[in-house]
Amino acid sequence: MKQDVIVIGAGIIGLATAERFLLKGAKVTILERNKVGLESSWAGGGILSPLCPWDYSDDVTRLTSYSASRFPIWISSLHKATEIDPEYETSGMLVLPPYNIEIAQQWCSMREIKMERRTVSNTSVARNSKETDDATTYDHALFLPDIAQVRNPRLLRALHYRVVQLGGRIIENCEVMRLKATQQKIQSITSSRGEFIADYTVVSAGAWSKEVLGVHALKLDIKPIKGQMLLFKFDITPPLHAILVKKGLYIIPRRDGHLLIGSTLEDVGFDKQTTVSARNHLLMRAQAILPILHTQPILRQWSGLRPASLDNIPTIGQHPMIKNLFINSGHFRYGVTMAPASAEILVNEITGTRQPFDINPYQRGWNFH
Ligand SMILES: Cc1cc2nc3c(=O)[nH]c(=O)nc-3n(C[C@H](O)[C@H](O)[C@H](O)COP(=O)(O)OP(=O)(O)OC[C@H]3O[C@@H](n4cnc5c(N)ncnc54)[C@H](O)[C@@H]3O)c2cc1C
Repeated sequence: MKQDVIVIGAGIIGLATAERFLLKGAKVTILERNKVGLESSWAGGGILSPLCPWDYSDDVTRLTSYSASRFPIWISSLHKATEIDPEYETSGMLVLPPYNIEIAQQWCSMREIKMERRTVSNTSVARNSKETDDATTYDHALFLPDIAQVRNPRLLRALHYRVVQLGGRIIENCEVMRLKATQQKIQSITSSRGEFIADYTVVSAGAWSKEVLGVHALKLDIKPIKGQMLLFKFDITPPLHAILVKKGLYIIPRRDGHLLIGSTLEDVGFDKQTTVSARNHLLMRAQAILPILHTQPILRQWSGLRPASLDNIPTIGQHPMIKNLFINSGHFRYGVTMAPASAEILVNEITGTRQPFDINPYQRGWNFH
C-alpha cells in the first residue's frame, strides 16, 4: 500500500490502526489533540472480555472473541519490537452472583468456552486470608480461566513507540477542527496546526468522533459515557488471583500489587471530573466483596470518557458518501479488547483483503437514528 493515511486521534484504536497501516507499507500521520494515549484508553481496566459475555449480542461476541484471540501474538510482537511489556496475563475472571447461571453455562457450552462452577466466600476469594464465621458465601460463582488482561498505559506506550519505529508521524497538540469535503471526497483537514491532505482519512477520536466528523457524521450516534476507577496498591502481590466481577463492579489485580476497582457508567456529557459519590459507591461495593480493602488507602481515583454506541457495537469502515473517509470508533466498554480486530477489519477494507467474518454489523452506525 503506497497511499498517505491520516488518522485522527491517538487512543488505542488510532494507534492500533496506524500500526496496521504502517505494516502494510502506507505512509501514516496521526493528528492528536493532546498527548498520545491519555484519554479513555489510558483510563480503562484492560480486561480482554465483556464483563458477563452472555449478556451481549453475537455481533459483540464475534468481534471481542476474535480480537482477544489476536492478543497473544500482537502483544508478543510489540514486546519484542519495543522492549516494553504490556503485561498480558491470563488471570481468569470469577463472576459472582447474581447473574443468570443457566444462560451463562449454556452460552459457554455452545462456544466451547472453559468454565468452572465454584462455591466461594468473600474471604476465600482473597489470597492468604482466613475463613471467618461472618463470611458471605457465593454458591454459584463461575470461573472463566481463559480471560486475560493487559495494562493499558503500557500497551499504549508500546504502541506509541512501535508506530514511530515503523516510520509513522505523530503530531501532538493538534486539534482537528473541520473536514472539508467536495465532490464526495475529503479535500483537506483543518487543524490547530494547519491544513493536512491525505489519500485516506480515518476518524478514531473516541468519544469526540461525532464532533470531529461534524456535518459528515450523518446519523452516527457516539457519545461520551464517563467511567470512574479507584486504584489501590498492596505491598508485593495483590490480594486476588483473578479478575472479580459482581453486578457491573469489577476488581482487577495487577502483577505488582496494584488493584483496580471499576467502574461507573455516567451520562454527563464531556465532564471528566471525579466525584466523592462515585468514590464512596465503588469503595463500599468493593469492600463488601473484599473486606481487606477496609484497611487500605485509595491511591488514586480517575475517570475516562468511553465512546458509547448503541449495544456496544462500534462503527468500522467507509463513509457512505465520502469515499476517502473512514471511521473506527464507538467501541464503548470494550475498545481495548476490540482494538486489534478493529484495526485489521478497517485496513482489510481499504486494501481489499478478505475479512475474517461478516463485517456488515459494524457498518450500520452511519444510519442509526
Ligand atoms: C473506566 C473505564 C474502564 C474501561 N475498561 C475497559 C476494559 O476493561 N476493557 C476494554 O476492552 N475496554 C475498557 N474500556 C473502554 C475502552 O477504554 C475504550 O473503548 C477505548 O479506550 C476507546 O479507545 P479510542 O481510541 O476510541 O478512544 P480514546 O482513548 O478516548 O482516544 C481518542 C483520542 O482522540 C483524540 N481526539 C479527540 N478529539 C480530537 C480532535 N478534534 N483532534 C485530534 N484528536 C482528537 C483524544 O485526545 C484521544 O487521545 C474502559 C473505559 C473506561 C473509561
